[in-house]
Amino acid sequence: MKIGFIGLGNMGAPMALNLLKAGHALNVFDLSEAAVRALVEAGAQAAGSPKAAASDVECVITMLPAAAHVRSVLSADDGVLAGIARGVPIIDSSTIDPVSVKACAELAAQHGNPFVDAPVSGGTGGAAAGTLTFMVGGSASAYEQVKPVLLAMGKNIVHCGDTGTGQVAKICNNLVLGISMAGVAEAMALGEALGIDTKVLGGIINTSTGRCWSSDTYNPMPGVIDTAPAARGYSGGFGTDLMLKDLGLATDAARGARQPVYLGALAQQLYQTMSTNGAGRLDFSAVIKLYRREGAADAASDKGDKGDKGGAR
Ligand code: NAD
Repeated sequence: MKIGFIGLGNMGAPMALNLLKAGHALNVFDLSEAAVRALVEAGAQAAGSPKAAASDVECVITMLPAAAHVRSVLSADDGVLAGIARGVPIIDSSTIDPVSVKACAELAAQHGNPFVDAPVSGGTGGAAAGTLTFMVGGSASAYEQVKPVLLAMGKNIVHCGDTGTGQVAKICNNLVLGISMAGVAEAMALGEALGIDTKVLGGIINTSTGRCWSSDTYNPMPGVIDTAPAARGYSGGFGTDLMLKDLGLATDAARGARQPVYLGALAQQLYQTMSTNGAGRLDFSAVIKLYRREGAADAASDKGDKGDKGGAR
């Protein structure tokens, strides 16, 4: 297929590379010339605008930071809808709020284009490996139309229901993730303060009822999981500011639904404090810095915790 791809950042670039590897032809656009150049070197064609990227293609994919970017890329004078042919499906894989999704889908429908929200889980590692989970919202026919394209970038493609339900699934998952990471950080830091070897504690939790992805794959305490961001100074991974954005989406959606999110609101304040203290670009597991005592992080730095020591306390 010929596909228009807009937004070639940490997630979009490896996703686009997997489409090229699967044999699709790509028209790419990003505000960053360096990002476009990297994809052109891999075989994509550069487009001068979202309109040009969407012209003469069979599918358009957007992977952008937030709802405002998606709306403007769709509806600006040189936007996707100005260039796309009727009937060509639009896939938005950005994480945005379900209300904006419905507005975008309506705009697309007025131009005769199916629109699906298809946010992802799996992070930059999953994007590079082509093993992302796609949570798809939209009509059954639109889902069937886009599924083959998504299979080139992901392993689990799930139809969640009507327009917006993909984002509902994504927001609820990240609500759990933000809370569970804070819970594991709290417990690991308490164990450290009470004097247990944190590697032993991590091992116990990971074979006991406290086990979760935040403890057994992404443990925030340095020295417990060698491949976690905690082992490399909280660099790479899923940024604190992105987690903060997702918890904001969850609490906003909850307000709209008059539904309480007690723990989500508290977790949002923890990541907000980190961001305010200058740790917004660190992986979100650095939330443990809010709990660890002066000196503890320094002691751990000998074992690899070399990031922004104490910056978020
Ligand atoms: P990123 O900031 O690395 O990339 C965004 C890209 O969009 C950048 O290259 C930027 O130049 C481009 N862009 C911004 N405005 C644009 C515009 N008007 N026109 C064209 N290009 C524009 O972000 P990311 O990490 O790739 O995340 C993208 C989306 O995926 C976000 O909504 C994020 O919440 C979500 N997400 C991220 C992860 C992750 O681990 N990073 C995981 C799951 C979901």
